[in-house]
Amino acid sequence: MSGYKQILVAVDFSEHSKRAIERGLELSSASDAKVNMIHVVDYFPMMDSAYDGALTFSVDITDELVVSSKKRLAELGDRHRLSEEQLSVEVGAVRNEIIDRAEKIGADLIVIGSHGWRGIDLLLGSTTDSVLHHARCDVLVVRL
Ligand code: AMP
Repeated sequence: MSGYKQILVAVDFSEHSKRAIERGLELSSASDAKVNMIHVVDYFPMMDSAYDGALTFSVDITDELVVSSKKRLAELGDRHRLSEEQLSVEVGAVRNEIIDRAEKIGADLIVIGSHGWRGIDLLLGSTTDSVLHHARCDVLVVRL
């Protein structure tokens, strides 16, 4: 028994977070814990004003990213038999959204990859480092 009841897995669709999903599911099958997944769209629109007129257009693809993230997360949810309410796509700062979601669902464990798409230059990915420092519950950092 892991003793955990509510697990939140932070998913960025990288190989590291795939491993985090596997670990979250392993832990949940060893107890009656519920697995939840979150993906955060942290895209910031490119505004021409920020480039002092160098650009002649503004680009905001947030809505498209939300739609495609929901689709990808739903596919993962189907594969692992999670219901819609166990899946969440949020827009904002990744660390804040993960921590807010964990508090909202009363998570007692956050499972997160040691690194993500940005690679393994750092000892820990910046999201992971920040979540570790700010989460109020346990955090399991999963390495590939
Ligand atoms: P990073 O800090 O980008 O190296 O990512 C480390 C880990 O943080 C990943 O393996 C994911 O578990 C999580 N993570 C990173 N970005 C996101 C995101 N946009 N949404 C949800 N989880 C994320």
